Amino acid sequence: MNSNTIQTDGHSLPIVEEFYTVQGEGHNTGRAAYFIRLAGCDVRCPWCDSKHSWNASCFACHNVKDIAARAESAHAPHAVITGGEPTMHHLGPLTSALHDLGIATWLETSGTHQLSGHFDWICLSPKRHMPPTDEACRNADELKVIISTHDDFAWAEECAARTTDTCLLYLQPEWDSTHDIMPDIVEYVKLHPQWRISLQTHKFMNIP
Ligand code: SF4
Repeated sequence: MNSNTIQTDGHSLPIVEEFYTVQGEGHNTGRAAYFIRLAGCDVRCPWCDSKHSWNASCFACHNVKDIAARAESAHAPHAVITGGEPTMHHLGPLTSALHDLGIATWLETSGTHQLSGHFDWICLSPKRHMPPTDEACRNADELKVIISTHDDFAWAEECAARTTDTCLLYLQPEWDSTHDIMPDIVEYVKLHPQWRISLQTHKFMNIP
């Protein structure tokens, strides 16, 4: 099996890491959440800072009920399911196991694969080189577009046009470009107030 052909029934999933922290970015910034980072990604962004997560076969699979039990033991009210690209997996069993323990489920996805599972919040972070599916755009509660150059504003609008009227819209500076692009983002939001700014506050707080 390689990273592009993940075939499990979703009852056990390859885990890169799990940790209880505070969500640093997007709509749920500042809220306590148990992060579940699943292995496997075929989106392969050149700037990816978690390339080690791409090949799912490098990571041990864990039973989803055990994962949910660990989140409950941490007293986490919410779980962020992220990756890698988590939608490469069948997420129904994991979201059910978390909901059975009263833990809300939040998804972070590039929206490039079919959705599965039941989520209380879906954050779509689209990538230009591998655009999201219509299903992902329709189901997004939050669209978070990473901005590193001025061209990215047009891409952000393209994605926003594919979401629903209730989807919240965020522009987030790419971390290494923040100094250069931030003034443009501020001006853009002043002219287009349907957008909000998301910052990677966990990096300022020195938390994972
Ligand atoms: Fe990395 Fe996420 Fe892009 Fe996958 S989708 S390559 S994990 S940034």
